[in-house]
Amino acid sequence: MRYKVHIQNKGWSDWVEEGRRAGTSGEGLRLEAIVIEGVDEYQVHIQDKGWSGWAKGGEIAGTVGEGKRIEAIEIKGENVNYRVHAENIGWLDWARDGEMAGTTGGGLRIEAIQLIESAEPLSVDDTRAGVNIEPKPVAPVEPAKPTGNLSGRVICINPGHGGSDPGACGDLRESDMNLTVALRLGQLLAERGAQVIYTRITDVHVYLSDRPVIANNAGADLFISIHHNGSSDPSSSGTCAICYPGSDAGIRLATLCLNGLYNRLGLQQRGLIQRDDSDVTYSDMPAVITEASFASCPADCALFNNSCLL
Ligand SMILES: [Zn+2]
Repeated sequence: MRYKVHIQNKGWSDWVEEGRRAGTSGEGLRLEAIVIEGVDEYQVHIQDKGWSGWAKGGEIAGTVGEGKRIEAIEIKGENVNYRVHAENIGWLDWARDGEMAGTTGGGLRIEAIQLIESAEPLSVDDTRAGVNIEPKPVAPVEPAKPTGNLSGRVICINPGHGGSDPGACGDLRESDMNLTVALRLGQLLAERGAQVIYTRITDVHVYLSDRPVIANNAGADLFISIHHNGSSDPSSSGTCAICYPGSDAGIRLATLCLNGLYNRLGLQQRGLIQRDDSDVTYSDMPAVITEASFASCPADCALFNNSCLL
């Protein structure tokens, strides 16, 4: 029995033998597909799609190049025990005989899988389950080095809301989420040589109309407004971005932001919205408003709290 997994941003892992871990943990990377040899059949639960249908030895179960996470797996085969490492939870209990390992309601990604042959069912307190088998290295672990030199560029970052205006609220407050992302984004841009201007750096109120003025007065080259979405329906989830209608530079900037967010977060793709919101209307430079996820959605907030992504 051997298996391999397709990992977000990394591609296919090497084949790993029975007992070993395939995938990553602590890196916030989703599995997108699996291939297993030496079992009868297997299927995976794919984000937004549901169960893949049963695959047989060596066939791919899952998707490649669609940016969709695997949320659960089922495997049939004599004496095959399996478990999954789920986002924010860690290793779930062992399953066998086609039982589901993972979750289908919470939208949690699987980050690694492990298969062990045993005639007796394994359990969390089973000594074999605790056997620590060193994982074979899979694809390179280092993330791609950033390229480009932003020296001489001025970028204004606007953390939306703040102070008396918390924005959308659920398990998290949008104003806090916005500030967390803005400060981290600013740090990354400053490391690449950019001069970063903020409209606020603490939990204070700033008038909506003052925000693009701060960017204009600083002579910023880009205006990036960080927001998170809200809905009365707590199951509403996903990523969108807003730019000024018909602005070529705005559309290009928003598309770049969207592609990065889609790839990194793996949430539902809600698309690019062209709308004359204040931030993108009254700023003199290419501008975007990002709504990376929903403050009103418990699963989105859980994802946000997974600091691996930041
Ligand atoms: Zn907002």
